[in-house]
Amino acid sequence: MSHWLNKVLVIGLGLIGGSLAKSLREQRACANVVGFDRDQREMQEGLRLGVIDSMAENLAEEVSSADLVVLAVPVKATEAVLEQIKPFLTPSTILTDVGSTKGNVVEAAERVFGRLPVGFVPGHPIAGSEKSGVAAADSQLFNGYKVILTPLPDSADEATARVEEMWRFTGAEVLMMDVARHDEVLAATSHLPHILAFSLVDTLAREEENLDIFRYAAGGFRDFTRIAGSDPTMWHDVCLANKDPLLRQLDRFTAGLARLRSAIEQGNGDMMLGTFTRAQAAREHFSRILSDTASSQTMNSSNVIFRAQPGGSVTGTIRVPGDKSISHRSIMLGSLADGITEVSGFLEGEDALATLQAFRDMGVVIEGPNQGKVRIHGVGLNGLQAPPGPIYVGNSGTTIRLLSGLLAAQQFDTELSGDESLSKRPMERVAKPLRLMGAQIESGEGGRPPLKIKGGSDLKAISYEMPMASAQVKSCLMLAGLYADGVTSVTEPAPTRDHTERMLQGFGYAVEQNGSEVSVTSGGTLTATQIDVPADISSATFFLVAAAITPGSDLTLEHVGINPTRVGVLNILKLMGANLELMNEREVGGEPVADIHIRYAPLKGIQVPEDQVPLAIDEFPALFIAACCAEGETVVSGAEELRVKESDRIQVMVDGLKALGADIEGTPDGAIIRGGQLHGGEVFAHGDHRIAMSFSIAALRSSGEIKINDCANVATSFPTFVDLAQEVGLNVNEGDS
Ligand code: NAP
Repeated sequence: MSHWLNKVLVIGLGLIGGSLAKSLREQRACANVVGFDRDQREMQEGLRLGVIDSMAENLAEEVSSADLVVLAVPVKATEAVLEQIKPFLTPSTILTDVGSTKGNVVEAAERVFGRLPVGFVPGHPIAGSEKSGVAAADSQLFNGYKVILTPLPDSADEATARVEEMWRFTGAEVLMMDVARHDEVLAATSHLPHILAFSLVDTLAREEENLDIFRYAAGGFRDFTRIAGSDPTMWHDVCLANKDPLLRQLDRFTAGLARLRSAIEQGNGDMMLGTFTRAQAAREHFSRILSDTASSQTMNSSNVIFRAQPGGSVTGTIRVPGDKSISHRSIMLGSLADGITEVSGFLEGEDALATLQAFRDMGVVIEGPNQGKVRIHGVGLNGLQAPPGPIYVGNSGTTIRLLSGLLAAQQFDTELSGDESLSKRPMERVAKPLRLMGAQIESGEGGRPPLKIKGGSDLKAISYEMPMASAQVKSCLMLAGLYADGVTSVTEPAPTRDHTERMLQGFGYAVEQNGSEVSVTSGGTLTATQIDVPADISSATFFLVAAAITPGSDLTLEHVGINPTRVGVLNILKLMGANLELMNEREVGGEPVADIHIRYAPLKGIQVPEDQVPLAIDEFPALFIAACCAEGETVVSGAEELRVKESDRIQVMVDGLKALGADIEGTPDGAIIRGGQLHGGEVFAHGDHRIAMSFSIAALRSSGEIKINDCANVATSFPTFVDLAQEVGLNVNEGDS
């Protein structure tokens, strides 16, 4: 059997060295894992426990014949051990270590070697425990954890690759960093918390009634102080080895603590809430990042499948999740308003959370979200503060485009960036008109993110005719218009969603609408309000169609947004003969909402009016299902945009519906569908969430099971879909292959 390397020598057979050796042995990574420790008994114990293949009786011989030498001794012993092994290292020996600090390890190596050997690649596993010694060796210690390598300018690529491979055998994820950055990051994330834990326990232990204090200590105290049980000698060494970065972090922490102290002293609730909500949000954010990393392998490789059983009917009363566009805007305008805005029904999806985080970064105190409830302590139109760094908006196009208008008018500089997919999307469509208003804004390569926005520009109002219809561009300019001198007007070539205009009015800010032109005048204020975010009509659509096609159905969808720019699906279903009525119509934060009551009635095929297409563009996958269950022919045209959505929605629906026996033909801008019986079968959603959900409801009228592949994205856009579907009577279940 060929091995990755022949011989690995581990010097220092304690917790870390022993765990690494044991893992390499179990993985059969190399022919021989040899252990050396200054304590003979530790080596013998290592041999007995199967941690190593053999003990190094003669260190000189073992070093000169090893392919790779790992130093796993306390950091302060590094220099002495390097002196000891230096004479026996060959030009091809790869040398690495596991020390918790890196700057001083490299300095020690420089003192020993002068010019560093090309085979030397320092490293640090970010895993461990309070235990020590070879008896605590655990081959799974590094599995799923991170290891940081800090290759040096002289390190050979080949050596770095080998050390990286070694850690991969243990199941660790390997990251690269330079030495100084490593020490700075670890000072903040590991060394500072250890110092705080030691100091807190010591402080309380010195109090006279310490027994009582510890006796009544609850879980929080135990969690926070667990790491005070770590090895004092090791932490003494770490503090000395990483003194400067640690002192910098301690100073920052002390300043933060002093701010909190004075907030408590002065009873400054906003300041306290600001600190706690920011910390809570950051903690959740990091936990999510960390758990994503842990599960990324399984998530990516698994194909989430929905299995929908035939038959059933749809009954009950449900409320689907809140509208995304309105959730975004509630945070933005709530932050800019005077007073506290209370939001309920907020959609806690990643995009709207990115907006929320952006305003927290700019000093707005935002409580929640907690089960869709958010309390925003508005700072007024001129109360935003410079964020501590670039604002990261993830995948949210709405956030970056709307914020650019707002930030162009602030006194401070900002940078907006996003994830890989957002970084490919065009930003000049907002940057150009903002420059006409006097904004100083620089986009990245090819007019894409990041956007660098200079503060302190005095914006002047413009009248802008949008070359293409875009609600995001219109909203961006209106937000800039709140600050620009004069009256800012935007004319759109075709109607687009008007959530911003409506919500501005909901916050008491005058907006003028004149045909296709909308205008705002600067100088006003926004007044805090209450917003119960309407349920998203696009999410409601799956249930509307489900009830419309299934005999015996009787369903009420509560508090659905019926903004005139979004109600195409209601108009089209009505034309097809659906029995639906709007009840309890009302206005919330400027937006019209209603409860929608729908009962089964036989549907008939129609020619879908082209003026309804833009008002229902996201709803066509579900409407195609309705057409398959209608009597006669349905023709959809003027919907070429469907070909460039999350998937080519025309093609994917045509392929899937044909697989279920439907009579459907795709056309360049739509489809021709003749109603008939669907049978069961296997279809592919191609990662498109709306298609996955549409095929799920098709089973209500199919004669056999429908198996739907590639449904993972439903979890991000509509995480409660399967639960709600089951609640109203669909027999759909989630699994993976
Ligand atoms: P450990 O369990 O105490 O093991 C260290 C071993 O090295 C002990 O067996 C020790 O022997 C031996 N040793 C000390 N000086 C030596 C020398 N001159 N020659 C040969 N062997 C020597 O400590 P550990 O937790 O594994 O830590 C080892 C290294 O890993 C440290 O550099 C530490 O910074 C790093 N690290 C630790 C953790 C953690 O959570 N523990 C996490 C990441 C990295 P004696 O018992 O006789 O002293």
